[in-house]
Amino acid sequence: MQCQPATVRGGDSGHNGQTEAGGARTRISLKDTGVQALQECLPTHLFDLCLATSLRPATRMVFTDAQLNPKFMKPIPPVDPGIGGFGINRLTLREILLADLGPRVHFGKKLTHYEPAGDGRVIAWFADGTSAVADLLVGADGTGSTVRAQLVPDAVIDEVAWAIYGRTPITEETLSWLPDLLADTFNLVIGEGDATFSVATCRTHESPTAAAHRLAPGLSITDIPDYLQWIVPLLDEQLRAAEPAALHRLATDTVATMHPAVRRVLDQADIEATFAVRITSARRVALWADPTVTLLGERLAVERDVLRGLP
Ligand SMILES: Cc1cc2nc3c(=O)[nH]c(=O)nc-3n(C[C@H](O)[C@H](O)[C@H](O)COP(=O)(O)OP(=O)(O)OC[C@H]3O[C@@H](n4cnc5c(N)ncnc54)[C@H](O)[C@@H]3O)c2cc1C
Repeated sequence: MQCQPATVRGGDSGHNGQTEAGGARTRISLKDTGVQALQECLPTHLFDLCLATSLRPATRMVFTDAQLNPKFMKPIPPVDPGIGGFGINRLTLREILLADLGPRVHFGKKLTHYEPAGDGRVIAWFADGTSAVADLLVGADGTGSTVRAQLVPDAVIDEVAWAIYGRTPITEETLSWLPDLLADTFNLVIGEGDATFSVATCRTHESPTAAAHRLAPGLSITDIPDYLQWIVPLLDEQLRAAEPAALHRLATDTVATMHPAVRRVLDQADIEATFAVRITSARRVALWADPTVTLLGERLAVERDVLRGLP
């Protein structure tokens, strides 16, 4: 794949993506196809920086009951971070992707619609009244895609479930009480009724600043302290738009009868970092005829793994 020069315009307020759903401070997993594309698009030193700052992979898949009695366990074969896939903090990936792009990225540009330019190209219009002409408009504008709404207006996005995401800082003390079953595993704790709990241990192989110093001197990159990312289902629909503290209280209630270590993860959470996530599933769409517009990313996302509470 050869990457062509492109201009990126996004609705985000800035470099750190604070308006992105859930903020830019959660993680994301890339599978082999995504990693291959990343490798082909990035200069070698920036791809190596992705690998160095990737998250340590889970070593086991573990399902337990509410008291952490294992019901199912399977080792996950160890893999070095590489083309097979890896997890990475979103902010780190974002900062690496933005490196060297300079003025080709414009923030704070909300797309309202597009129209044919009349010469085989396309004009994108933004909420501030400005526009841009291009050979190809790539709509990478997420679940609520404005581009998709115009290009394939019949597309259907089903709401599947809601979940509460939260984070708990990892300190040396945390690792002394966190049970092995929950540390560095791909886990699901199954409680009563619909109550479940999952926690991902998010620790980078190398700190972003140390890795950048070694591989990309001069690149400004943010250190993200290690953390636990936990997920419980959002079982009260009245609270979908609630503040972090109310969501955290609901999550705490949901795990109230679970093992003390599960409750402790929530007790030590960074409450303000708690947020609600709507989980959606896109139905397949018919191919479209317009060669000047395409879609990329979430408009086809199916996140049923998250629905089952797996991080
Ligand atoms: C909490 C959480 C945890 C997740 N965990 C994982 C995980 O571990 N692994 C995984 O693979 N996936 C995970 N996902 C799913 C993953 O985040 C998405 O699949 C992925 O972000 C989709 O990327 P995207 O570029 O399509 O959309 P997004 O990341 O949503 O990006 C869309 C961008 O378009 C911008 N935008 C929207 N509308 C406009 C407009 N009109 N004009 C201009 N810009 C606009 C937005 O500001 C945003 O920056 C998670 C999702 C969430 C919410």
